[in-house]
Amino acid sequence: MKALVFHEHGDLNQTAVANIPQPEIGPNDVLLQVKAAALNRLDLWVLAGWPGLNLKLPHVMGSDGAGIVAAVGADVQNVQVGDRVAVNPTVSCGQCAYCQSGRDNMCDHFAILGEHLDGFAAEYTAVPAKNLIPLPDHIPFEAAAAASLVYVTAWHSLITVGKLQAGESVLVVGAGGGVNTAVIQIAKLAGANPIYVVGSNADKLARAQELGADVLINRQEENWGKAIFKATNRQGVDVVVDNVGAATYHASLRSLKKGGRLLTVGNTSGPKFELDNRLIFGKHLQILGSTMGPHSDYVKVMEMVFNGRLHPVIDTIYPLQNGPTALQHLQDGDVAGKLVLIP
Ligand code: ZN
Repeated sequence: MKALVFHEHGDLNQTAVANIPQPEIGPNDVLLQVKAAALNRLDLWVLAGWPGLNLKLPHVMGSDGAGIVAAVGADVQNVQVGDRVAVNPTVSCGQCAYCQSGRDNMCDHFAILGEHLDGFAAEYTAVPAKNLIPLPDHIPFEAAAAASLVYVTAWHSLITVGKLQAGESVLVVGAGGGVNTAVIQIAKLAGANPIYVVGSNADKLARAQELGADVLINRQEENWGKAIFKATNRQGVDVVVDNVGAATYHASLRSLKKGGRLLTVGNTSGPKFELDNRLIFGKHLQILGSTMGPHSDYVKVMEMVFNGRLHPVIDTIYPLQNGPTALQHLQDGDVAGKLVLIP
């Protein structure tokens, strides 16, 4: 079967669409015929690799997918061959104390499909049956694939961890990426008001406005920290969503109201930076980190996608064959929403 893989860690030159054997499934797995896969910035981190990441190579890329059940393992009860399904990309053991208490995204054996295990950018992939949810007929495979990772991540961060309430003000640092587009929509759905979005150009900001942003700040034209200070009568906002990291953290913390929360699920500009601790205790701030979300959050947020209250944003759909081109597009960074691959 065809798959978007890399044979060694490195740069985009290591990626190719190759013929590899169809995966085998265990008793609790299904073989998924992938109808749509989606890329995330995570794919570029995995390609580059990091100390301690030991993958079976070649590695199949892509953490998001949806498709049709092509075969089921001997012990699978919840789905049948022919079912349309979306797949929660978080893999957990189901046995450890975290899993037993419903926090399966903190599992002692936590893994992500496409990160630690083979992903979806292939004609077929093997996935645990418990990760599947039924995909209604009216939802395209592309939308389900585009939604999975970023929506469960954004929902868990904003709603479950951040406890965002109607009427609270939110600042989203960044307008274009998949998580931020999901964050803006979920904040709107939760009744946040106003929603400030900082972006790097007018196009991305215009799209953020369509998703629910109330106040747009172009960081090329003004100092966004000062703009927030001014727009909030020097009070700051209740919640900042910062997945940029090194380049923005200090300004993000300064933009918070006393008692405010900074939510983070990643760091596109780098993970290490200095913090002025006086900001944290002096203003009673909370920094709340999370990664992915438990299956219960995946079910909740996908229900919102299926009932039309959340709309995954797709930038471009590519045939699987053009996977390396899509990865280049992702790396170049001029992306508004998700890049989808069709096997
Ligand atoms: Zn576990």
